[in-house]
Amino acid sequence: MIEDNYKQRGLRNKLVKKLQEKGISDQRVLTAIGKVPRHAFFDDALLNHAYEDKAFPIGEGQTISQPYTVAFQSEKLDVKPGCKVLEIGTGSGYQAAVLIEMGAKVYTIEYNRKLYERTKDFLPLLGYKPNFFYGDGSKGLPAKAPFDRILVTAGAPVVPTALTDQLADDGMLIIPVGDRERQKMLKITKKNGKLTQQEYDYFAFVPLLGDQGWKH
Ligand code: SAM
Repeated sequence: MIEDNYKQRGLRNKLVKKLQEKGISDQRVLTAIGKVPRHAFFDDALLNHAYEDKAFPIGEGQTISQPYTVAFQSEKLDVKPGCKVLEIGTGSGYQAAVLIEMGAKVYTIEYNRKLYERTKDFLPLLGYKPNFFYGDGSKGLPAKAPFDRILVTAGAPVVPTALTDQLADDGMLIIPVGDRERQKMLKITKKNGKLTQQEYDYFAFVPLLGDQGWKH
């Protein structure tokens, strides 16, 4: 059983307030972040940093995204209860947990075998049970398509056509696209088969690898 004490709940409430100050206003996102015990995703050595608004290493050269980034992407994704969501880049599983708290039915895919194995074993211990997949998410997850929402949590060089192809009608894709240093957050919406694009701020993600991602 993971301990979630008074101190940790207090730090989590402070984090939620900070995210509000930074402009996150979707109550469903704030409530979800207020519920997920972020400290449970941290090694003992980094435990004191769990509720800082920063990204942290999770091993295998990968990171648990900054809470603001998770909140921003979750807000833009506009998840409704029952939405079928594909997350690309399972990582620690924190973002998947937030989406589940928002009522989404989550499919999550990870390209790093060790992280996939670790998170598939760990996340259900917290009560979060997305559908886990191992593989190259730059190609989406054709066997389970279409998706109401697709969320990419690694930086892509281009928008993979496989992902827009796997969007349901009225579906939405949130993806950071740019070079290896920084990426612009894009929202791509499909309506009657037609795609429209909205652009937001720059972020800095680890690279999306694979067939329609970076080659190394
Ligand atoms: N969503 C994660 C979380 O909540 O902890 C953070 C994700 S981390 C910033 C990016 C993840 O994308 C890494 O775990 C990386 O291994 C994974 N990744 C990179 N390329 C991928 C691909 N083609 N398919 C699936 N996952 C990929």
